Amino acid sequence: MDKFSILKQYFGHDAFRPGQEALVDGILSGRDALGIMPTGGGKSLCYQVPALLLPGVTLVISPLISLMQDQVTALESAGVSAACLNSSQSPEESRRVWNRVRRGECCLLYVAPERLENQRFLELAASLEIPLMAVDEAHCISQWGQDFRPSYLKIAAFVSALPRRPVLAAFTATATARVQKDVVRQLDLRDPVRVITGFDRPNLFFDVRRPRKKLPELLALLEERRGRSGIVYCATRSNVERVWAELNRRGFSAARYHAGLDEEERRVSQEDFQYDRRQIMVATNAFGMGIDKSNVSFVIHYNMPKNLESYYQEAGRAGRDGEAADCVLLYGAGDVATARILLTHGEGGEPEPRELERLNAMVDYCKTNDCLRGRILDYFGQPHPERCGGCGNCRGVFSQADITTQAQMILSCIKRVRDRLGYYVGAALIVQVLRGGHGHRLKELGLDRLSTYGLMREEPRERVRAYLDCLEAGECVYTEPEHATLRLGPRAGAVLFHGERVYMLSRVERRQPEAVPERKPDRIPAAPPDQSLLSALRAERTRLARQEGVPPYIIFSNAALADMAARAPRTPEEFLEVSGVGQVKARRYGEAFLAVIAAWRESQ
Ligand code: ADP
Ligand code: MG
Ligand code: ZN
Repeated sequence: MDKFSILKQYFGHDAFRPGQEALVDGILSGRDALGIMPTGGGKSLCYQVPALLLPGVTLVISPLISLMQDQVTALESAGVSAACLNSSQSPEESRRVWNRVRRGECCLLYVAPERLENQRFLELAASLEIPLMAVDEAHCISQWGQDFRPSYLKIAAFVSALPRRPVLAAFTATATARVQKDVVRQLDLRDPVRVITGFDRPNLFFDVRRPRKKLPELLALLEERRGRSGIVYCATRSNVERVWAELNRRGFSAARYHAGLDEEERRVSQEDFQYDRRQIMVATNAFGMGIDKSNVSFVIHYNMPKNLESYYQEAGRAGRDGEAADCVLLYGAGDVATARILLTHGEGGEPEPRELERLNAMVDYCKTNDCLRGRILDYFGQPHPERCGGCGNCRGVFSQADITTQAQMILSCIKRVRDRLGYYVGAALIVQVLRGGHGHRLKELGLDRLSTYGLMREEPRERVRAYLDCLEAGECVYTEPEHATLRLGPRAGAVLFHGERVYMLSRVERRQPEAVPERKPDRIPAAPPDQSLLSALRAERTRLARQEGVPPYIIFSNAALADMAARAPRTPEEFLEVSGVGQVKARRYGEAFLAVIAAWRESQ
C-alpha cells in the first residue's frame, strides 16, 4: 500500500492538505520533521499515515490523557489498531496493552511524557521496533510557551537511551519563533523537514462587539445558534457561575467548568459537552488543552482575555473540523481592569511591561475598525491581504458620525477638572462627571459644580467611552501610562479653539454573520446539503454515538456529514466517496446512514 491508499482507505480523504504530504514523505524517507500548522490543520495524519506504512510501533507523546484517549478511539473506529498507556489505567489494563504491543498488534502507542522517565518503560521500549516517535503539542517543551510541561524535557534523554534512534517528528500549532527554535533544540531534531503552513484559520469568522449590556447580547447570539455546540469563555469563576445559571434558566443546555469545581464535577461537565449531551460549555480558561472536540461551532468570549495568544488559542477551538465557525468577543470597558487584576494575580500593583504590551495589543484588537483577522496575523508576524472579507469589520457596515460637539464637551471637561484640581484624573472619573454621576469622590472634589458636569447625561456610558477611544486614536487625548490619567493630546487645541472637526467611524451592528469559509474545501461539494437530510443524519449519528458510548464526532465529523448530505449516496460504493469515510467506517456505519438517506428520499 502507498500513502494515498492509506489516506483513502483508513481516513476516507482524497488528497493531502497543504504541508501534510511533505511531512509524510520526509518521515518516510527517514528524516526528522517539524510540522507547524494551525489547530485543525491536520497534524495527526502526518504521523498516522507513516505509522501505518512503517514496520513496528510508532510512539506518540501526547500531553493529556483525554487527548490520547480521544485519538485512540478515533483511530480504532477508523480500523487502525492503536492503544495508549496512562496513569488512569489499572495494572491489569496496562499489562493487556503491553501484550498487544509486544505481539505487534498495535500500529500506534500513545504515552504521556511522564511515562518516559519510568525505567521499566524504557526497558520494554528498548525491546520493540520503534521506527518513529511523534511528539504532539510539542510547544509543551518550551518554557516560553503557555503550556510548559517539564516532563517533555525528558524526551531527548529517552530517545538517546534507545538502542536505535527512531525518526523524530514534532508537531505544534504555536506560532512564535522562539518556541519553534526551542522545540528543535530541546528535542535535538536533526536537520528536520520543516513545514510551516501559516496560522490563518480561514473557516473562522472573527467578530468583536461592544454591547451596552453583555448578557442580553450573549443570549441573542446563543439564540441564533441554538442546536449548535459552542464554548462561552469568561474571565472569572464568578462570571462563569452567573452566566451558566442564567443560560440554564433560559432553557439552554449548558455545562460549566472552572478550577473551583472538584475533579469529578469537571470530568462530568467535560464529558457532557464532549458527548453533545450539553450544547454549551461556560468556562474559564482552565477549560482548554484537553479539548479535541471537532464540532465546536462557536466560541464566544464574554470577557476579553489577557493577550492575543490566549485569545487565538481559545477561539481556535472552534471549527476544528474545517466547517464554518464563529469567534465573537464581547468587549466592555471593565474588561481591561479585570485583565490587569488577573495579570497581577489579584495582588494589585503594575503588571510586567511585557504583559502590559500584550494586553494593549489585545485591547487594540477590540477597538479597531481594521480587518480583525489581519490584526491577529500581524501579531504573529504573518503577511496577509489588507482585508480578509470574512470578519466582522470587513463585512460590517460603518457609518461616519460628526462628533465634534461631543469631542469639545469632553476636552473642555478634562481641562476644567485639571484647572480645578491642579492635576489630571483617570477616564472613569471624567466619564462620571460628564454623565452627571453621584460618586463619592466626585462630590468630595466638588466636580459636580463644574459647568461641564452632566453635559452628556443622556449618553450611555459605553457611548462616552467610545468617544474617548476615538479621541485617543485621533491624538486629542492620551493616557499617561504611569498613573493611567487622561490628558489633553497634541490635537486637542485645534478641536477646542480652531474649529477642527472630529469624525467617528462606528459599525452598524448586524446580527448573524454568515461565515463563509475561504479555505479551499477538501473537496468541492456536489451540491449544497439539504438541511432536513443533514439533521436526519445528525440524529442518526447521535443515536449511534449513544449506542457505542463514544462522542458523536468520533463516528463522523460535521464536515463528513455535510458532504454526505450533499452527495446523498445510494449505494455502498457511493458512500465510500464521501469525504471522511474510510473502508472500516463504511462497513460499520454505511448501512445505517444509507437507510436514513433512502427514507429521506422517499419522503421528498
Ligand atoms: P490538528 O491536530 O492539526 O489540530 P487534526 O489532526 O485533529 O488537526 O485534524 C483536524 C481535522 O481535519 C480532522 O477532522 C481530520 O479528519 C481533518 N483532516 C485532516 N487531514 C485531512 C485531509 N487531508 N483531508 C480532509 N480532512 C482532513
Ligand atoms: Mg492535534
Ligand atoms: Zn477581515
